[in-house]
Amino acid sequence: MFDALDREHLKNKWDQVQANVKAACERSGRSLDEVHVIGVSKTVEADVMNASIEFGVKILGENRVQEILRKYEDVVDGPQWHLIGHLQTNKVKYIIDRVDMIHSVDSIKLAKEINKQAAKQGKKMKVLIQVDMANEASKFGLPADQVRDLLGQVSELDHIEVEGLMFIAPFIQDQDLIRSYFRAMKDLFESLKTLTYDNVSMKHLSMGMTNDYELAIEEGATLLRVGTGIYGPRDYT
Ligand SMILES: *Cc1c(COP(=O)(O)O)cnc(C)c1O
Repeated sequence: MFDALDREHLKNKWDQVQANVKAACERSGRSLDEVHVIGVSKTVEADVMNASIEFGVKILGENRVQEILRKYEDVVDGPQWHLIGHLQTNKVKYIIDRVDMIHSVDSIKLAKEINKQAAKQGKKMKVLIQVDMANEASKFGLPADQVRDLLGQVSELDHIEVEGLMFIAPFIQDQDLIRSYFRAMKDLFESLKTLTYDNVSMKHLSMGMTNDYELAIEEGATLLRVGTGIYGPRDYT
């Protein structure tokens, strides 16, 4: 992370991501306006987030409820906030009126709590189902063969709209293997599009991070979650 806000450096990094996204879209015959970059701003302070918004970031991605609450008032109005990390049911109430989309729904229990809190606010929360496509049972996410079932249950929850799927690739170097997971996600996404459940409209595929977002574009991602590539390496101290 920068010692102080280095606007020029930040702008260059953002412009580079934009250029890479554009090139990947051209390579894969996709339209630029179906691919959206989320600036993953975890550990990034509000002044840097605000500068990035000035340069063009339209969606912020955060993975911790506490951090959203801490920074929320200091960030300018305008961008969407997406919760991309694991969400505990007892924390839903704190962010329900602050975030525009929750990427990490992987159980009916969490979906029901989101529905309940959204109902209290008189709103409908957009969510994605997080899928454990790489079969990393130790991690969060629902096994692929259980997604359809969950969608069936969620169709009863009128204060939720499932807009798609989310996937976090494992930390491996093998690009072909990562590509195969992305492809499996796209296949699942397409097959679920044919469902006509209430409160389900498959529009978004959230996959691809700094190391693999171009691959993700080639395989059909619509939401890219890019942190390091925009804001630099994270400092957790
Ligand atoms: C941190 C994080 C990212 C961004 O990671 P980078 O490698 O820094 O781009 C994307 N998705 C999730 C869920 C994250 O927690």
